[in-house]
Amino acid sequence: MTWKDHLQQAILGLEVYRTFPYRPGLVRLDANESPFPLDEADRDTLAHELGRVDIHRYPEVAGRPLREAMARRFHVSPDQVLVGNGSDEMISVLLTAFAQGPAGRGKVLFPVPTFGTYEAAALARGLEPVKVPLDGGWQVDEARTLDAMVRERPALAFFPSPNNPTGNRFDAGTLQRLAEATSGLFVADEAYADFCGVSQVSLVGEIDGFCVLRSLSKIGLAALRVGALIGPQDLVAQLDKVRLPFNVNAVSMALACAILENPGRLEDRIRRVAASRRSLAEGLAAIPGLTVFPSDANFVLVRTPIDGQRAWERLLERGVLVRNLSRPGPLRNCLRITAGTSEENERCLQALRAALA
Ligand SMILES: *Cc1c(COP(=O)(O)O)cnc(C)c1O
Repeated sequence: MTWKDHLQQAILGLEVYRTFPYRPGLVRLDANESPFPLDEADRDTLAHELGRVDIHRYPEVAGRPLREAMARRFHVSPDQVLVGNGSDEMISVLLTAFAQGPAGRGKVLFPVPTFGTYEAAALARGLEPVKVPLDGGWQVDEARTLDAMVRERPALAFFPSPNNPTGNRFDAGTLQRLAEATSGLFVADEAYADFCGVSQVSLVGEIDGFCVLRSLSKIGLAALRVGALIGPQDLVAQLDKVRLPFNVNAVSMALACAILENPGRLEDRIRRVAASRRSLAEGLAAIPGLTVFPSDANFVLVRTPIDGQRAWERLLERGVLVRNLSRPGPLRNCLRITAGTSEENERCLQALRAALA
């Protein structure tokens, strides 16, 4: 026997998450980041906060200051908030907690196409994915999902709204009915909710087993790796035992708290990104042959009239990096384009017109 005989077999089939190697001058519209760096005044504030961090001490063990800041942002109590190293870590904590229930190996339900981490992280933690295809308009197929919930009894169901990579919001009534119907936990992933102003946080505590994931990554703070889970207090208390101690580092905590102190500036940046996405979508809609899917997020999904891989390469040759999602099935010839600055959007539109000509 070697260590390999003990490794979870599902891990052998997984791939490492990679990003394309960035080079100076490349227009980066591949990762759903904000294109806007912090301005001078914010940088000064953060430099001051950084100078006050006690680097020789462990951070506050439970992330209290950040939990309180998030609780204020979402109008809940700090006991209903868990914070982590990105919302990815919250996904990991949830999967770990529900991997092995009294009924055995846990199942995780989610719609497809969607965010790849649900499946990869589920497999790596020994859970079984249950995938339910979205309908032709990228909406949740309620009847089919209900069927799967009754048949498979998933421990967890993930529903990102707006969805990545399709960009649309799911019907709120459908989500609420599914949340009420499932016997497991219902996780509304709101990584992009800031861009459409629609949130389901108010359902926390109203529907048993309903929780919400939020992230600071898509609204301009990706480098800090800060995310939150908002859920009923008894769930948060259990998950609190699963996360590792000191899971949010002191630097990220101090900087995130300082930025959350000034929600006005944060909202300004969010509005600018949403406006950029609207103008990107308009520009894309004017390109002949391109199918543009409606978006409520900070990116736009398109289908190219030529081979998707070819289109992606031609964009890259012109210095524009987008996300290539093209594969057989519903995402055939699809590219995901993050909203950039107006100059970046213009370069992308030009490159795309040339690529498709
Ligand atoms: C980007 C993304 C996340 C991860 O966000 P982090 O907070 O950076 O870990 C979670 N869910 C969805 C749907 C995403 O697109």
